[in-house]
Amino acid sequence: ADVLPSNLEIARHTPRRPIGEIAAAMGLDQDYVEPYGHDVAKIDLTAMHALADRPRGKYVVVSAITPTPLGEGKTTTSIGLAQGFHHIARSAAVALRQPSMGPTLGIKGGAAGGGYSQVIPMERINLHLTGDIHAVSSAHNLLSAMIDNHLHHRRGVDLDPQQISWKRTMDINDRALRNIVTGLGSSADGFTRQSSFEITAASEVMAILALAHSLSDLRARLGRIVVGYTRSHQPVTAEDIGAAGAMTALLKDALKPNLLQTLEHTPALMHAGPFGNIAHGNSSIVADRIALRTSDYLITEAGFGADMGAERFFNIKCRASGMVPDAAVLVATVRGLKFHSGRFRVVPGRPLPEEMTAENPDDVYAGADNLRKQIDNIRAHGIAPVVAINVFPTDYASEHEAIRDVAEQAGARVALCTHVRDGGAGAAELAEAVAAAAEEPNRFEYLYPDDMHLDDKIKRIATRIYGAGGVEFSAEARRQIDSYQYQGYGDLPVCIAKTHLSLSADAGKQGAPTGWVLPVREVRLSAGAGFVYALCGEMRTMPGLGTDPAAAHIDIDENEQIVGLF
Ligand code: ADP
Ligand code: MG
Repeated sequence: ADVLPSNLEIARHTPRRPIGEIAAAMGLDQDYVEPYGHDVAKIDLTAMHALADRPRGKYVVVSAITPTPLGEGKTTTSIGLAQGFHHIARSAAVALRQPSMGPTLGIKGGAAGGGYSQVIPMERINLHLTGDIHAVSSAHNLLSAMIDNHLHHRRGVDLDPQQISWKRTMDINDRALRNIVTGLGSSADGFTRQSSFEITAASEVMAILALAHSLSDLRARLGRIVVGYTRSHQPVTAEDIGAAGAMTALLKDALKPNLLQTLEHTPALMHAGPFGNIAHGNSSIVADRIALRTSDYLITEAGFGADMGAERFFNIKCRASGMVPDAAVLVATVRGLKFHSGRFRVVPGRPLPEEMTAENPDDVYAGADNLRKQIDNIRAHGIAPVVAINVFPTDYASEHEAIRDVAEQAGARVALCTHVRDGGAGAAELAEAVAAAAEEPNRFEYLYPDDMHLDDKIKRIATRIYGAGGVEFSAEARRQIDSYQYQGYGDLPVCIAKTHLSLSADAGKQGAPTGWVLPVREVRLSAGAGFVYALCGEMRTMPGLGTDPAAAHIDIDENEQIVGLF
């Protein structure tokens, strides 16, 4: 097989257009474009009103089969598809999450696509971009500081130091901060208590940034954050602490979406980056609202497999925005379906086992239940799925045929994609299929109504989407659900935090397991973001660094260029 140049080489050798030209091609008036250097701009939110009379484009979410630990190519496919529309004479934009620096400095990897389907400039994307993540950290930590200040001065609401759930945050992987004691020293140095750090992507403020419709909505959501409880178990909010106004001021620029471009000069919006397990894992509503009025198609990626990212996109993000999706792409790979046969182990950082890269369509068929289930999961929301076969250099045509066969048997549209090797031209077939799917009558529906009881919502997702036989709630989870219902949070949608490596709650179970029981250990509230989340298994919100962190290889060379990022 022919070997591609590295992502960095491709990115550095592709000419870029000034960002103003990208904005102009979208029909965005210069007045709404705030350049941050030559390659990146922020878009002023007043553009939302100015564009409101333009026709709305088609809204397309990109999801996947349950991935291997390597990822199956949602980001490359989202970018490739947006580029692909240009090759069938339609306009498109792509909306993605901004990557956290934690993983960038931890494990070498690409959060901005790969090969000839990338968003540029990758160094800025992966390090700081326009500083939004730092603004989120600052707003979050301001609230933390004001909570401790409140305990120190003991004025106003009777916040119980034992019932504070608000932590501190930072955008670096640092396991030593998972459990900390604050306020050591004398009584002048603050109230002594145990606390912890979470990575900024896990901050509720990040989820709020992604789900806010406007600056005033951002303000209201920040005010609704529940930071803890009084001694008599009444919720205490960021509004009660007096922090929400200043938090909004710190986030004013961060709420403006960032505009970049793909290698083929397609507009790319990268904005907000909430976690995909304890949060909904989608980029921002404001970016989508703007991009949908500037392009025939808006392509957006939803984290993890369709059971997680797409389900949350439909039931949390679309519910929050009121926007209706038109089509969903399901990325499938030969390696992914072979993995779901349960015959192979995939370890990040190591080459695939040799038996896995040998030509064997039977192994693909053996894992096909996962694809069938994920197709069904999209259909459960009334949306037409399009299977994108993401072609890897190690694949065989007979194996692609096996995926095509399974997808067609299930009644889904299907397209072979070579966008990583060929750029947008390699996704033209996918673009045609998505365009056809988006023309079908729209039967979009949520999986559950607002007024369904929280425990029934969890059961509905577990049984209808994950294929579970039932749900088992711990005593604590039951108590939490009862109190959220009682406190008036029962109308919120739910986000289930479980492993992304299986449809089940057990990362070791591939395919489409049935009859198992989802164990709900704890249920927490993100009242500002507007969802309740259920913890099923250990979920780390502050990652650590490995034995050989990527940061140890990042440097600048003699030309003052960054090296070692990829
Ligand atoms: P996801 O967004 O689903 O996690 P990515 O698009 O980030 O997946 O892809 C995961 C990894 O696989 C990345 O390192 C990416 O560069 C690589 N990759 C994706 N598609 C291909 C492909 N068709 N050929 C080669 N490498 C690919
Ligand atoms: Mg991705």
